[in-house]
Amino acid sequence: MADTPTPIKSLTLNDLTERFRALGQKPYRAKQVIEWLYAKRVKDFAAMTNLSADLRAQLAEQFSFDALEVVRVLGSEDTTRKFLLRLGDGALIESVLIPASPALYGEASDRRTLCVSTQVGCAYGCKFCASGLDGFSRNLHAGEIVEQVLKAEEVSGERVNNIVFMGMGEPLANFANVMSAIEIINAHWGVGIGARHITLSTSGLAPQIRQLAEQPLQVRLAISLHGATDDVREKIMPVNRKYPLSVLLDACEDYAERKRQTIFFEYILIENVNDRPEDAWALAQITRRIPSKVNCIPYNTVEGLSWTRPSEARQDAFMAVLREADVRATIRREKGHDIAAACGQLRRQTEVGRGVPTAPRTAEDSRPYL
Ligand code: SAH
Ligand code: SF4
Repeated sequence: MADTPTPIKSLTLNDLTERFRALGQKPYRAKQVIEWLYAKRVKDFAAMTNLSADLRAQLAEQFSFDALEVVRVLGSEDTTRKFLLRLGDGALIESVLIPASPALYGEASDRRTLCVSTQVGCAYGCKFCASGLDGFSRNLHAGEIVEQVLKAEEVSGERVNNIVFMGMGEPLANFANVMSAIEIINAHWGVGIGARHITLSTSGLAPQIRQLAEQPLQVRLAISLHGATDDVREKIMPVNRKYPLSVLLDACEDYAERKRQTIFFEYILIENVNDRPEDAWALAQITRRIPSKVNCIPYNTVEGLSWTRPSEARQDAFMAVLREADVRATIRREKGHDIAAACGQLRRQTEVGRGVPTAPRTAEDSRPYL
């Protein structure tokens, strides 16, 4: 019985070495293949000219390349570029390439961030988010995550040097594949991006946050908090019923302590839901307990959802309370670029034929890890 070919970019160097051993091949062959994949970026086994023709044929039978197809690119060189990508099975995902923002990092900054997806759709159903609106289809395999980086570099002609797991999907619900992808993206034999330049965002899967804390890599952690009390959080994030704030914050504290890191709390401001002064006070209490930074993001309207972005006056009032409480917090006010929709929106627009979202997220987002 012929096994289904394994996507070759889902394998770490160790995995591939093991597979080669099983094939009766010398381990150094695995290294050679990895070099073709990540240093030379070839697109098929035929190009791996230091391997024998027999071995190349054998590899082509056992492994697949699973190239992502770029369906659309929105944006231009100096702005955020958004890629709509088709996977092998026809499913659509998005990645967003965000250039350095001189206003935030100084003219010398050359930070180029890629926001990657980890699942097709999302099962967590946060009430404000476009990614979860059509439910969950499947996990991406590690190779499909790694390839988003390779594709962005190929199309842009530039190296990406910062990765945020903030595209479609809940990365910690696809733990094993995301860990392999991080290893490949981080490794010197792989894409070579430092762990401190990799940020993983989660809606709050507490047990997996603890599991992540046990991993050797110093990956940064962002939490989609969006509510500083169980009452508020439950209204918009069903995951809070499973992992209430106290459980989530314990896991965050553990992560911060073990990794000696600052946690990033994401806080979307949604009018009359979580933007009152008392919400800001509650948020301040949380940040007192955990070494953290708060990133406030005025809500991006999603077609079909009734949540709204607060007025600038309300946003200012919220930030003033945080400042008064000495919270390290930033807020980003969009300039209204029309290409950079919040993750999940471009795919929806393509799949269900809707218009471009009205208040898109932009390149110059406030988040320091971007
Ligand atoms: N599932 C993970 C990773 C996705 S990150 C998580 O939720 O953390 C995507 C980020 O964009 C999350 O912080 C999410 O809450 C935020 N987001 C989703 N919809 C948004 C919208 N309409 N406006 C602003 N931010 C949004
Ligand atoms: Fe899923 Fe994150 Fe969107 Fe929630 S915010 S539905 S967890 S992608």
